[in-house]
Amino acid sequence: MAIISEKSEKQKAGQYKLPLEVFLFTFSILALVQLKLTYHPIILLERFISGGGWFEITVIAFYGAFVAYKMQIPLNVPKWRRITWTIFSFVFFSQLIIGLLGVDKFLMTGKLHLPIPMMILAGPLYRGHLSMMTILFLSTIVLTGSAWCSQLCYFGAFDNIASIRKTERGVFKNKKAIKTTLILVVIAGTLLLRWFNVPILIATLIAVGFGLIGIVVIICYSRKKRKMVHCILYCPIGTVVNMLKPVNPFRLDIDNSCNLCMKCTSFCKYDALNIQDVRNKKPNFSCTLCGDCLAACRDNSIKYRYFNLKPEKARNLYLILTISLHAVFLALARI
Ligand code: SF4
Ligand code: SF4
Repeated sequence: MAIISEKSEKQKAGQYKLPLEVFLFTFSILALVQLKLTYHPIILLERFISGGGWFEITVIAFYGAFVAYKMQIPLNVPKWRRITWTIFSFVFFSQLIIGLLGVDKFLMTGKLHLPIPMMILAGPLYRGHLSMMTILFLSTIVLTGSAWCSQLCYFGAFDNIASIRKTERGVFKNKKAIKTTLILVVIAGTLLLRWFNVPILIATLIAVGFGLIGIVVIICYSRKKRKMVHCILYCPIGTVVNMLKPVNPFRLDIDNSCNLCMKCTSFCKYDALNIQDVRNKKPNFSCTLCGDCLAACRDNSIKYRYFNLKPEKARNLYLILTISLHAVFLALARI
């Protein structure tokens, strides 16, 4: 009896450790922003009420802790990743709309940018210098690998909702070729616009057209295929993430306890875990480390890796970083 109660105490302690770490990490980052940027506050409530920023930071840190509490159980990840990613996108675009309607306190600088992920790549190529958004994006790759495309991007949440049901099995043929062609077209097209001094209005209209085609892809193909076709094939930033993510040490693999039941393949919306990938014991290059597939595996064969850390610790570290970044983005990300 004493052993049982001791064990459950330990389990309880473990249950709250992750939320506490996310709370502290989120609070620290936002507190730093609040203390450093006093001239032009970025925390929204501080712009309306002096000192209100601290209240908002505390609420958001508690939100991060709550998400960590839910997502520490692998079975909960698909549902809570969907809910929290959708909340982030809703907040991001609501602030943009309110800002456009004239309440410019809801905008970051008052200088508008197109909220299309492709602009993270095309913007700096057209202007000839890095933007804040691009630096932020690259930092997420260094910290978390590919979490940008599973919980941090304002646009990908729509593709995630569109492919809401369990996905179809099957591989997208020529995935690498399609992605490479599209990103080369975007890079070459943007450089041509720059070299021929095409006016910014026309360049912007072309970017809007690219974004609208992306929405058509989400509505027509992601829903039908039940996979995130926009993010897997169309979005050049998804391709940049796929290419650069190896700079980060987080990995996912399948251990020898896998019995090849293939249940996990229908949980992967990124087309990263098809039959051949399971046989190869690791997802293919389009994996975003989202963690949905862990919910499908009854044998607990799918594991996060981070250098020599035990898989549970590697997963916890991944959750601390991604959930804290998600919460920080919720407070800071606006146009
Ligand atoms: S692939 Fe593009 S739209 Fe999808 S999550 Fe990544 S950056 Fe966002
Ligand atoms: S293999 Fe697993 S972690 Fe990777 S994208 Fe697919 S579901 Fe997410």
